[in-house]
Amino acid sequence: MEQHPITKVIRTQTHRTNEMEHASPIFLTSSFCFDNSEDMRAAFADETDDNIYSRFSNPNVKEFVDRVCLLEGAEAGYATASGMSAVFASFMALMKQGDHLLSCSSIFGSTHTVITKFLPRYGIEYSYVRADKPETWEAAIKPNTKMIYLETPTNPGLDIIDLEFVSALAKKHDLILNVDNCFATPVSQRPIDFGADLIVHSATKWIDGQGRVLGGIVVGNKEMINDIYLFCRSTGPALSPFNAWLLSKSLETLDVRMERHASNALKIAEKLKDHQKISWLKYPFLSTHPQYNIAKKQMRDGGGIVCFELKGGMGGGRKFLDALQMLSLTANLGDTRSIASHPASTTHAKLSEEERQAVNITPGLIRISVGLEHPDDVLNDILQALEK
Ligand SMILES: *Cc1c(COP(=O)(O)O)cnc(C)c1O
Repeated sequence: MEQHPITKVIRTQTHRTNEMEHASPIFLTSSFCFDNSEDMRAAFADETDDNIYSRFSNPNVKEFVDRVCLLEGAEAGYATASGMSAVFASFMALMKQGDHLLSCSSIFGSTHTVITKFLPRYGIEYSYVRADKPETWEAAIKPNTKMIYLETPTNPGLDIIDLEFVSALAKKHDLILNVDNCFATPVSQRPIDFGADLIVHSATKWIDGQGRVLGGIVVGNKEMINDIYLFCRSTGPALSPFNAWLLSKSLETLDVRMERHASNALKIAEKLKDHQKISWLKYPFLSTHPQYNIAKKQMRDGGGIVCFELKGGMGGGRKFLDALQMLSLTANLGDTRSIASHPASTTHAKLSEEERQAVNITPGLIRISVGLEHPDDVLNDILQALEK
């Protein structure tokens, strides 16, 4: 009988040495030896998949990639030093001067900077559509559009984009569909099952899950991944073997961790949704979420992020953060420890009020990354901070 991907991930060990270790060792080596010139020639000619140099491949990195491919149902992948290097490599390897990228205004801050400030320098133009207005997307496709890039759920607004709909649109116009699956993780959502070509992850978040290392990965269509690999092996955003070892180990517990993050988040969302200091609250698996039906169709659970709007606006957001006693104020998300953030005064503070509105960052928006503490303790801290 075919094993479940979760089982395969736990049992997959890409390389076992003669010591017959049960857990994977760390291969802290920059290069690999060959017995003779013929083996070396064959490896350089891509006739074997022997490791040559850790900028190209390394057993720990391979194991991490193999495991993410199993979870995502992907043919191939390449792991990078951070989520942003995975995003950037997926753009640079597959687009060229004169191409057009279609993306969505609700998008991770640094991705927004790459798309709007850097890609245009290399002659790659972009347009943004709104996550909540899919009926406008087809009209935004141009003759030179090459790729659709999106996140679902979006960060930090938690909009849900219908992957089946956008895949059909990409197929119809022969476009690459590239999805940042960081918020859902592959145990909740597999965009490839709905027709996506590429998936990028910031492994820094839920995949690591303990806020310890940076990492990224892109998986998907074999030919596209080969182009990304060739770009990366020349430009050097390789994931370190140590970080790959940690991230690969983390994948063994991703499924159980996400189940708990999501059940804690749902409990907290249900308890907070009618609070008098909050004007609205969003969680993908609350029936009041505008795209609840789409979330139910494509996600196993609602993930670990809850966001809400404080009636007190910008000042209320700052006061709320200061009143928290347990939740951490930090830039990360996807940790065992719950984290609160106020995008309008931090990650999106440099944008003008209009720009913030265009990317759906309202003044009182609070994003909670729900950790693995007991949900009552997380809820109680939020409740006492709301009272102040
Ligand atoms: C954090 C994040 C990234 C960037 O990842 P890094 O590992 O910080 O480079 C990309 N997309 C989303 C949705 C993120 O949350």
